[in-house]
Amino acid sequence: MSTTVRAAAKINLHLGVGAPREDGFHPLDTVYQAISLYDDVTVSTASSTPSSTASSTPNSTVSSTVAEDSLSVSGSSYVDVAGVPTDATNIALRALDEARCGGAHLVEIAKQIPVAGGMAGGSADAAAALLAHDRLHDLRQPDDVLLAQAARLGSDVPFSLVGGTARGRGRGEVVEPIVDHGTWWWVVVPAAVGLSTPEVYRHFDRLHPDAPAQPAEPTELLAALARGEPVRLARALHNDLQEAAVDLRPELGDLIDRGEAGGALRGMVSGSGPTCVFLCDSQEGSAEVLAALSASYDVVLSAVGPVAGAHVVDMHQVGTGLR
Ligand code: ATP
Repeated sequence: MSTTVRAAAKINLHLGVGAPREDGFHPLDTVYQAISLYDDVTVSTASSTPSSTASSTPNSTVSSTVAEDSLSVSGSSYVDVAGVPTDATNIALRALDEARCGGAHLVEIAKQIPVAGGMAGGSADAAAALLAHDRLHDLRQPDDVLLAQAARLGSDVPFSLVGGTARGRGRGEVVEPIVDHGTWWWVVVPAAVGLSTPEVYRHFDRLHPDAPAQPAEPTELLAALARGEPVRLARALHNDLQEAAVDLRPELGDLIDRGEAGGALRGMVSGSGPTCVFLCDSQEGSAEVLAALSASYDVVLSAVGPVAGAHVVDMHQVGTGLR
């Protein structure tokens, strides 16, 4: 038996960051959006043959066996699969440990989401593994149980389950869907080398020793989303981590300038970076921005948001041919 779940990349339309709390976490007020770059996670019971339904074009695969579980990772050509651990530290295996109802599993991850790119690829894999495990064993746990498991795994994992456009508070794990009447066209430029999220937060602390306890609220952004107005949304996009990410990777400033000169309404760093995303006024506009940036950058992608949270795309009963 195997189940394949697809989970989307996230971007942060608003990322307000406050001063670190006593537990070391930064309080966040963020607006997430799920966009159409996906990881597919297939979870099989270890006695069955893994499925071969992964949809992205693999560039390479690494695999290992940990205790009883085993994991393999493949990815699109721009995805640094070597940066993804295949031991028990892989967050998809940690998700199975969190959810486990017994027995060993095989996990195959097919990645389109850049690794260490500020797009919550690991969180997407964790959410997908949780849901795949639930459906594989026909547990049908209530949403609040899955969301609680997700929150224990990481701040962005609950949003990866929920998808769409949502506000996140606390560490980002307290997720509430919000009204979004837009279809938003994005151009996405991943970097060849990722950035460590903790490193970006440490740099934010150095740059802002006087950060307020309460993070900035997304009031104007919520209005722009509710009205579906691209120019207004472009003005309201906000990322408190952008300065730190650009300070660590100065070339990102140049990339943002080029995208805006190429026709984007606004460019910004996605989350902790280094991926940059560009809001465009339409699908045609995004094609123009993509063409403009492709003259200087090897990997330029287009995506639309909001899209669904983690969802089953395939269930396969090995040996019977039944689906
Ligand atoms: P964040 O959610 O912290 O912003 P990110 O999107 O910047 O994360 P991820 O792709 O989630 O970055 O990877 C962060 C690190 O997590 C990687 O460098 C890798 O070592 C580790 N990791 C563990 N499991 C996975 C996974 N399934 N996919 C990608 N990275 C993973």
